[in-house]
Amino acid sequence: MEVVYGPVPSWRLGRSLGVDPQGGWTKRCSFDCLYCSSGPTAEKTVERRVSVFPERVERELREALREVEADVITFCGLGEPTLAGNLGELIGVARRVSDLPVAVLTNSSLMGSGEVRGELALADLVKGKLDAEGEGRFREINRPHPSLRWEGVVEGMREFRREFGGEFAVEVMVIPQNLEACGRIAEVIRTIGPDEVQVNTPLRPSPVRPLRREELEGVLGSFEGMRFRWVYGEEKPEVGRRVGFRRLRLLKRTGEP
Ligand code: SF4
Repeated sequence: MEVVYGPVPSWRLGRSLGVDPQGGWTKRCSFDCLYCSSGPTAEKTVERRVSVFPERVERELREALREVEADVITFCGLGEPTLAGNLGELIGVARRVSDLPVAVLTNSSLMGSGEVRGELALADLVKGKLDAEGEGRFREINRPHPSLRWEGVVEGMREFRREFGGEFAVEVMVIPQNLEACGRIAEVIRTIGPDEVQVNTPLRPSPVRPLRREELEGVLGSFEGMRFRWVYGEEKPEVGRRVGFRRLRLLKRTGEP
C-alpha cells in the first residue's frame, strides 16, 4: 500500500480510510501552515498535477477494504488533495469500489476554481479550513502561495457552499496566534454558511503549542448559533487492523490514540 492508509481514528469522521491523491513522499501544498504536523512544505504551489493513476487507487482500495473496517473513505494525505489534477476521477473510483461515504479534507485554497469546486462536489462530505479573519493573519498563519488572497479563498468557500448539496464543514485551527481573532473568524464563517464548524487545536505533534481545554472552551461562545463541534468534546473510535504503514508513519498517524 502506498496511497491508501489507515483507517485513522478521527473525532470527526470515525474510522477514516485515507487516500493520498498526490501520493508523494514530500509535502506538496498551497499553504505552509505554522502548525502543520507534516513539517515544512517542500513544494508550495497552486498547480494541479496528476501523480496517482486511478488503477492504482482502485487496486489499493479493493485490497484495503478486504482487510480493514472503515466508516468513510477520506481524500487527504501529505499536502493539499485538490492539487491532484484527477481528484474527481479518483473520487469516482472510490464510489465504484465501495458504498462507503467519501470525504475530502481541503485547505479551501483552490475553491475559487470552478473545476475544483466541481470535483469536490462529487464527495459526500467536504471539510474546508479558515484560520484567519483577514489577509495579514492569513499570511502569518497559513503562509500561502504568493498568488493566493484571503478574500479570494473566502469567496471561493461561499461559492462552493452555494453549489454543494452535501455536508460542508469548516475547521478553525485555534492556536495562540489567532486566539484573540476567533470572534471575527466566526463572523466570516457565518457569511459562508457551512453545515458545521469544527473547532480544533493541533493535538498531533506540531511546532505550535496546542491550546488547553479551558483556553479552547473560552472561544466556543463565538460559534453559538452555528452547529459546531470541538476537539476536546469528541471521542475517537477504536480502530482494528490497519494498512499503509509507510504513509501512516510519514503522516505521524501510527499509534494515534
Ligand atoms: S494546509 Fe494542511 S497540509 Fe498544507 S501546510 Fe496547512 S496543515 Fe499542512
